[in-house]
Amino acid sequence: MSQLGMLIIVSAPSGTGKNAVIKELIKKDTNIFYSVSATTRDPRNKEENGVNYFFVSRDEFEKMIINKQLIEWDEFVNNYYGTPKKFIEDMTKKGKDVILEITVEGAVNVKEMWPEAVMIYLLPPSMDELKKRITNRNTECVDSINERMKSAGSELHYVNDYEYVVVNDNLAYAVDQVLEIVHAERLKTIRNKNIVNKLIRRKK
Ligand code: 5GP
Repeated sequence: MSQLGMLIIVSAPSGTGKNAVIKELIKKDTNIFYSVSATTRDPRNKEENGVNYFFVSRDEFEKMIINKQLIEWDEFVNNYYGTPKKFIEDMTKKGKDVILEITVEGAVNVKEMWPEAVMIYLLPPSMDELKKRITNRNTECVDSINERMKSAGSELHYVNDYEYVVVNDNLAYAVDQVLEIVHAERLKTIRNKNIVNKLIRRKK
């Protein structure tokens, strides 16, 4: 049997630019697939259902929880966000790596279920720059910007739960750093037991 694909968890304060990093990452490494989350928040300008998120009502989301269709879920700035289970199971069984872009709480929950998941925290170069990025993208009202900044401050205390930190100052450099992490993680002995076992069997 081939090795299971790995889960790559990326968290970052809202506005750090994780979407841009993930988009580039997926272009550069075709074995990585993006896990599209379900959310009750409204779509932003160019967001598409099924591509950026599955946009659902609160009722639909609560049904997904009851039917155990999510591997984790969380509430963020008055909306639900959750990771569909089936996609992750199907892809990892095929040896594909799946990237999850989720809150710190969601990340800790996934890590409990999948101890071999790789946890990467993406940092903004500064809190001033973060506020500038959230404000400049023109997608949030003032209340939401303030809530997101508040949440960014408290999320930073969880960085120690992550195995890696990458500062997103320069997009190309941040993408390369994440790729280096992924490539090194793929070489871990624990992920390559089948290769070793095959050699051991042949030797006998
Ligand atoms: P946004 O509204 O900016 O797209 O996302 C808000 C927050 O929800 C971000 O921190 C994002 O990483 C997180 N998020 C998106 N999808 C999920 C998910 O499926 N589960 C969890 N726990 N958080 C998510």
